[in-house]
Amino acid sequence: MNELKLLIFIFFVSDCSPLSSHFLQPMDKKYNPVIAHRGAWKAKDFPQNSIASLRNAIDLKCQGSEFDVRMTRDGMLVINHDEKYQGMDIETHDLNELLNIPLPNGEKLPQLSEYLKAGKKDNGHTRLILEIKPSTIGIEKGKLIAEKVYDIVQKIKMEKQITFISFDIAILKKLVSLDKNLSTQYLHGDLSPKEIKSLNISGIDYHFSVFKTGHPEWITEAKELKLQLNAWTVNSKEDLQFFIDNHFDQITTNEPELLFNILSQR
Ligand code: MG
Repeated sequence: MNELKLLIFIFFVSDCSPLSSHFLQPMDKKYNPVIAHRGAWKAKDFPQNSIASLRNAIDLKCQGSEFDVRMTRDGMLVINHDEKYQGMDIETHDLNELLNIPLPNGEKLPQLSEYLKAGKKDNGHTRLILEIKPSTIGIEKGKLIAEKVYDIVQKIKMEKQITFISFDIAILKKLVSLDKNLSTQYLHGDLSPKEIKSLNISGIDYHFSVFKTGHPEWITEAKELKLQLNAWTVNSKEDLQFFIDNHFDQITTNEPELLFNILSQR
């Protein structure tokens, strides 16, 4: 009889405690933390940050598709990871000069407004994860880029479909000052969850080594503070498994198909 009572007690506690629910949720078929890093480009050999890679991430039904935004000399916003595009420094060239050379798949270098519109079309399931790159010119320029990005996002009415991420904390603070309801995540990995919460930023998206070896305690801290938890760029099976087991809200990867495959076998 005592054993039965003990069993009932264990069942009740394990089923109801918040700790246990973290471990139960990944078993849910709807758990989809997949963020395609620079779109889903690898398996189909699309250029990174192309509209083709964005649409492929949407077709795969990723939770989100990440991309990088920079500003040209004449104040136009373009999608490119590196400071340079085809050998030309983006911040010291005008858009027209950059448009002369297409991406390897024939697309022209995407501008933010057309990229967002392409991401909005027939898409009710994949968020756009918009990284604003720090300006190489200075902090003030970075804040100006944040304002311009927000302006375009507002015009296209996509505030609720976008998570804004940046290594530059000043850019995120500017976005929060423009609209405190925006989804924002900090990338640099040097601020604790408590510090991020105090800035009204909604999540942390840190290099995976920060969570695995640097500050593993930040996983629990972030969950307790109800911050979104994201890690970049997680590509090996073992590392993907670690972040699934820790039930991250998002896992940013160059291998979205592999991550879906691991999730489907659980
Ligand atoms: Mg990026």
